[in-house]
Amino acid sequence: MNVLVLNAGSATLKFQVVRTDDSAIAADTDVKLARGQIERIGGEAVITVRGEDGVLSRHSAALRDMAAAVEWLVEWITSRDSATSLTSRAELHAVGHRVVHGGEQFSKSVRITPDVAFAIEQMIELAPLHNPHNLAGIRAAQRALGDGVPQVAVFDTAFHQTLEEHAYLYAIPYPLYRRHKVRRYGFHGTSHRSVAYRWRRISGSDKADVRVITLHLGNGCSACAIVGGESMDTSMGFTPLEGLVMGTRSGDIDPAVLDFIASKEGLTMHQVESLLNSQSGLLGVSGLTNDMRDLLAEAREHNDRRATLAIEMFCYRARKYIGAYLAAMGGADAVLFAGGIGENAPEIRAKICDGLQWAGLHVDAAANAALHGGNEGRFSSEDSTLQAWVVPTDEELLIARDTYRVVGHRETDASALSS
Ligand code: ADP
Repeated sequence: MNVLVLNAGSATLKFQVVRTDDSAIAADTDVKLARGQIERIGGEAVITVRGEDGVLSRHSAALRDMAAAVEWLVEWITSRDSATSLTSRAELHAVGHRVVHGGEQFSKSVRITPDVAFAIEQMIELAPLHNPHNLAGIRAAQRALGDGVPQVAVFDTAFHQTLEEHAYLYAIPYPLYRRHKVRRYGFHGTSHRSVAYRWRRISGSDKADVRVITLHLGNGCSACAIVGGESMDTSMGFTPLEGLVMGTRSGDIDPAVLDFIASKEGLTMHQVESLLNSQSGLLGVSGLTNDMRDLLAEAREHNDRRATLAIEMFCYRARKYIGAYLAAMGGADAVLFAGGIGENAPEIRAKICDGLQWAGLHVDAAANAALHGGNEGRFSSEDSTLQAWVVPTDEELLIARDTYRVVGHRETDASALSS
């Protein structure tokens, strides 16, 4: 089955076309026929795409909205230009969408029916920055490919629906949860699930034996404690703001600070929340950038004090979460690093792990330095009882596989790990 995977944001559309089926899933031989992204939708869009030959090509087009972007994309995929073997829209058999918020309603990937689309719309209240755009992607794909092509929603929150009540509730008056569903949901679920699934393959374990801590360190960052192949705890909460220090988000903070900053700076609560989301984290502390690559260069080349401090805070928070999860889980077999920073920044991995020797994690410096650019591998020493690995995430592949399974009425086991 050829699956078009769409990840629709406010002005960006990321996509892949993946050919998958049961035997490809079993042998890890799914084929990526095309991938790329369309940026600056709403104006003169910048389009970067690669076909089956892997050759990068750039285009520009006036794309006024998501519908125009998906239409352009489908046209390109089925054209000769794309160097894919697809020549007609009928060869796109299904569409898999990344949907950020599935609330408490969705613990698995599901086929999009009018009822499911309505539920995603209802959850805009919980994810105002994401769900409207995901929905626009769904409607655009329906328009471009017609109602006959099945569409599947894969939720960022679904994997974390296995959290127990004591882990997902905030210690606030219980009626606030009952009335407004104020609780921790967790995000990045597809990434954590993808990494944990890959770990099953690497370690040859059954799902029940998977006991790992996964760290997704990209622009957004989150940690996940996975026991028995299921999410037991995760660092993001009601929104993606909670938890680790991120590119522009503060992560954990005393909520009393919000009102204090609002009154001192003459800001509304909404402005303070936006400050915590988009002007904090690595950017806020360093005053320079949210890009870890640039921060590392500043610290190294200019010995910049605040760049160094931002890096220190980033690593310290991540290490604290690992420690907390080791306690909550009663120990783990491995810590798995993914995301742009997790996969490419050996210095950051070493700094996070330094101080976890007590837990049995010893970094092999040479192995660590050799892991970047999307390579998978272990960087803890042979004698470590808590292993450390880089396991690159592949959310699009998981979305394609889930889509194939849902459309074929196969069990997705999407709230846990697919097999
Ligand atoms: P997103 O969460 O938007 O998908 P990514 O997973 O691509 O983001 O991660 C982006 C982050 O990864 C940025 O902070 C970037 O600086 C960092 N990064 C990418 N490559 C490197 C590298 N070689 N060294 C250090 N950091 C890197």
